[in-house]
Amino acid sequence: MQYRQWLPAAVFALAASTLNAQPTPGTPEALFAAARQEAGLDHAGTYRRICGVPDNRYGTPRRPPGTSAPPDRDTWYARPYRVFDNLYFIGTRFHSAWALTTSAGIVVIDSIFEYAVEAEMIDGLRALGLDPNDVRYMLISHAHGDHDQGAAIFQRRFGTQIVMGEADWESTLARTEYPGGVPKRDIGVGPGGLTLTLGDTTVDVIATPGHTPGTLSYVFDVYEDGRKLTVIYAGGTAFNFPPSARAFAIYRDSMVKSAERARAAGATVLMSNHTEFDRAWDRARIAQLRRLPGEPHPYETDVDTVVRYFDMSRDCAEAERLMRE
Ligand SMILES: [Zn+2]
Repeated sequence: MQYRQWLPAAVFALAASTLNAQPTPGTPEALFAAARQEAGLDHAGTYRRICGVPDNRYGTPRRPPGTSAPPDRDTWYARPYRVFDNLYFIGTRFHSAWALTTSAGIVVIDSIFEYAVEAEMIDGLRALGLDPNDVRYMLISHAHGDHDQGAAIFQRRFGTQIVMGEADWESTLARTEYPGGVPKRDIGVGPGGLTLTLGDTTVDVIATPGHTPGTLSYVFDVYEDGRKLTVIYAGGTAFNFPPSARAFAIYRDSMVKSAERARAAGATVLMSNHTEFDRAWDRARIAQLRRLPGEPHPYETDVDTVVRYFDMSRDCAEAERLMRE
């Protein structure tokens, strides 16, 4: 009888000590745990994707293999939306493209898969009252198909200048064929970054290598009913590069740099180029609703929340680096 009373208490004590066990500082386990704290639910999409959470693949529609048919439009099409006074969503449910309007034309940030460029970007701009012929620059965060297949289309049809990291121009120009075509070299961005000015608007282009060697991120201002908010846009996220300790160190350092730039700029809006990372499609639609007095824009957080995004990404990358040392 005494034994039967003792046993559940012992089992409970054992379970509690396991739950409370702290991972050894500086280990991958400790970094993953820190990243989980830093992510919270604010950055759950990116945390899930890069921090070893089960079932972390997000099914994005692609052309069926061996066919030229685009995926069924009903699986990807999203309406275009004005999200800030000077920023318009022209992406799909999965991949973001944005139009930043200025006093001297439009800067488009990222393209999407070629199959969606006409419906989302070109028709989308027109539906919003914007003219694709006014697109002066297209900033390509990195040279992967889900973000760059509209570059040559805009360059050819609208005279748009394409801005890309130097290293990603190299991989781009090495292509012989590509959906939408291979763009001609326009503006390359080196490790020191670039300040791009068009009319009254400046985009601070930051070299953040890691996801690809030429990945770019951006800092720029948006306005909500005339009130200025500063955005940091993270240009490369997933860990689908050839994995090595060195590669993860480069990625980690770019996250440290991004956190510093976000804090220095006072960024309270975190954006990215997959809707799973920043919930762009949800936020774009919620932004259409009338807000109560004092209610923040759905994209507005605070500097600490934005910085936690990069701290989380840094810690996930550092954990992966340690596991390969
Ligand atoms: Zn990519």
